[in-house]
Amino acid sequence: MRIEEDIKLDFKDVLIRPKRSTLSSRREVDIFRQFTFKWSGLVYDGVPVIAANMDGVGTMAMARAFSAHGNGLSVALHKHYPLEALLDFYGKDESSSGAWYSIGVSDADREKLEAFVEKGGKIDKLCIDVANGYSEPFVGFVRKIRDRFPEVTIMAGNVVTGEMTEELVLSGADVVKVGIGPGSVCTTRKMTGVGYPQLSAIIECADAAHGLGGLVCSDGGCTVPGDLAKAFGAGADFVMLGGMLAGHDQGESDIVEREGKKYLRFYGMSSSTAMEKHAGGVAEYRASEGKTVEIPYRGDVSLALQDILGGVRSACTYVGARRLKELSKRTTFVRVTQQINNVFSGHET
Ligand code: 5GP
Repeated sequence: MRIEEDIKLDFKDVLIRPKRSTLSSRREVDIFRQFTFKWSGLVYDGVPVIAANMDGVGTMAMARAFSAHGNGLSVALHKHYPLEALLDFYGKDESSSGAWYSIGVSDADREKLEAFVEKGGKIDKLCIDVANGYSEPFVGFVRKIRDRFPEVTIMAGNVVTGEMTEELVLSGADVVKVGIGPGSVCTTRKMTGVGYPQLSAIIECADAAHGLGGLVCSDGGCTVPGDLAKAFGAGADFVMLGGMLAGHDQGESDIVEREGKKYLRFYGMSSSTAMEKHAGGVAEYRASEGKTVEIPYRGDVSLALQDILGGVRSACTYVGARRLKELSKRTTFVRVTQQINNVFSGHET
């Protein structure tokens, strides 16, 4: 057994220090980013915020809404769409150009992807998503998919440390997804005791990935727009959102009405709700480490997006970053919580 004594930080442990700036309005801030992916060579030009591949969030309706608003965000589709729906979407719907096709590592997922390609389906962005990105078979899987689809941009995860980020980048991931346990409907930390404070995970993984020409996507734990600003400030290239984009019309969820108020269910993709809904298909995905919550219905997603993107823009003006790209260079975090480190507070006798 070993104990790491370094301080590890979460979003709540820091604030961003304001800096002198020449910007007078948040309208002057450009929150689009352009990336050329290391392996696929494809260019990304958009707002680097991704709707999580979860029921109620990573939907085709969400992709259509993003595309209609022209806001530059993308959607990671949840992996439970049937083959025909995927073929239809990617074949006919222009909004599919911003979508990430998601798979886990199961044979069923792989077979569906092969069938999709065989039937003429075309994708340029793939998200390979498992709860624990530390397993050898997962790394092997990423390698196989990279060999099979050399021209597709691959995002893979999740991990939280530099050495595993490097391993995934070197195995073919263009983007490494970072986050174990911070999700709003995730119970991994409670069920297993495993996790890593998200801000430190981003800082360490971004450093590792950037050194090799890779990118990172901070996945989970954002509850307010300021958390996205902190994630970008810490070095995240992309930020993935679940809970913050849940509860909207675009979630394709059933809405229930009680005492004049509307609600809907939001759940982790390894919760029993998800398992029941996608019976048979999800057993190995995020093995039973998710919960189900009831959240108020929040109408069209565009209102939430205005808030989220407005917050990020405003953070940029506070530190004088004219472009989102400059935010991490301009960020100084101020620690606002104390961690008790080896301090003995008792009386000596
Ligand atoms: P949020 O933005 O809601 O805080 O976090 C979203 C992320 O939580 C997802 O992108 C995914 O990585 C993670 N997640 C989704 N469902 C589950 C689950 O059932 N269990 C765990 N451990 N994580 C989940």
